[in-house]
Amino acid sequence: MYDTTLRDGAQSEGIAFSVEDKLEILDALDGFGVGFVEGGWPGSNPKDDEFFEKAGERKLKNTELTAFGSTCRHSIDAADDANLKALAACSAEWCCIFGKTWDFQVEVALRIPLEENLRMIEDSVRFLRESGKRVMFDAEHFFDGYKSNQEYALEALGAAVKGGAEWLVLCDTNGGSIPAEVKLATEDVKKTFGDVKVGIHCHNDSELAVANSLAAVEGGAEMVQGTINGIGERCGNANLCSVMANLSLKMGCEICAKDLTGLTELSRFVGEVCNCSPSPGLPYVGEKAFAHKGGMHVSAMAKDSRTYEHITPDTVGNKRRILISDMSGKASIDSKMREFGIDLSDTESREVLNRIKSLEAMGYEFEGADASFELLVRRLKDEWEPPFRVIGFRLFMDDVGDSTMISEASVKVEDFQGNVEHTAADGHGPVNALDNALRKALSRFFPIMEDIRLTDYKVRVLDEKSATAASVRVLIRSTDGKNSWTTVGVSENVIEASMHALVDSIEYAMLKAGDKPKK
Ligand SMILES: [Zn+2]
Repeated sequence: MYDTTLRDGAQSEGIAFSVEDKLEILDALDGFGVGFVEGGWPGSNPKDDEFFEKAGERKLKNTELTAFGSTCRHSIDAADDANLKALAACSAEWCCIFGKTWDFQVEVALRIPLEENLRMIEDSVRFLRESGKRVMFDAEHFFDGYKSNQEYALEALGAAVKGGAEWLVLCDTNGGSIPAEVKLATEDVKKTFGDVKVGIHCHNDSELAVANSLAAVEGGAEMVQGTINGIGERCGNANLCSVMANLSLKMGCEICAKDLTGLTELSRFVGEVCNCSPSPGLPYVGEKAFAHKGGMHVSAMAKDSRTYEHITPDTVGNKRRILISDMSGKASIDSKMREFGIDLSDTESREVLNRIKSLEAMGYEFEGADASFELLVRRLKDEWEPPFRVIGFRLFMDDVGDSTMISEASVKVEDFQGNVEHTAADGHGPVNALDNALRKALSRFFPIMEDIRLTDYKVRVLDEKSATAASVRVLIRSTDGKNSWTTVGVSENVIEASMHALVDSIEYAMLKAGDKPKK
């Protein structure tokens, strides 16, 4: 496994890594057991230089640090090329340099003779080898080149081998190839260069990056280059999370990462550092990858999870989720109750189901709001009475000029012993002000308030054509630093909907902390 999240992944729109970010990701990949990590392009910018300096001081357990670069420029000796000199001087033992293998690119993009390109490849690899580096050659546009001029594409690989490359990495740079072609071309390369190891580097422009990578492995490739969550320029790179899971769980390959139970955590950690949450629909590691909603599916799943799951989620450290909605049957409710640790009689579970159906008709949705759903059930069962009550609140918004708005909220709450607290706070916007005021008022009675933080706030304007009276639904995600939970509020008024979701969020934290007054 060769990870290029820090180089190809960083070329993804909207992603910018700091040196610290890169070091954190390097450590995570090393801990997971990824064989090679491509850290960046020494000599191209000060950030990458600093990264290689710091990464070079680290003792990596599993990973070989790799530096990326290109062959020398034309009409220049490899030894005089500034980029190659930077590669030779960097801390990484391995260098991966790319060069052209498609005659069209050589003639149209570089506008140089085909022979000169071969010279550049061979000299560049040789220079790095003589500087004490181990070298991989990234054969850019290899599959397009192989289709256009097979002989030349193979000659270009041959030049890299002559220079001393230990790996030939076949790149589907434009992401336009299909698995059958990739497999055949890879087999041919293996046949032609028997002793040299072969890798694959695929882009996802035809949504085939993972499939093409697996096809290359079937054709004899021994290394797959990709990124965590498939981030990368345009449609991204091969998603290493899926590649690793497929190779190990489906194809019986032995891969460098031995234990996949940390895969979901790795995906989410990298997403967190990128500040770009992985898509919930990602196979294996996404939040929805093992989410079941249809009532019939859930009832079959209760008998045997193999009925609707290709693997058990814990194999990759993911979780099964049963989604509660008006499509749910009794089996979904029962299964969810087991998760919550609540016993429901048959009558009670039907009562819960009816309640959900009527709330969904009002615009509620509990699929993404487990915490509100748990409170709803506990309230129905008379197991939970809120330890506080909001008696009232007011909001003030002041336009103080300079396009600055100040929001201030005052909140009056009563705890279960009848103590009343009246507090005001300001904030960035009305919801933040309300949250601050509520927190301030309640922290007098409930120390747990100190730890709770709101992490996400979503408003959905509901379809006007639907028969719902309510017009907005608010989802609030909160954390106490260890756990996160989501609550929902619905109203015609966005502030009121937010207040419902906020109050649920706080009640839920109190429920979990055991701050509940027995009835
Ligand atoms: Zn690439």
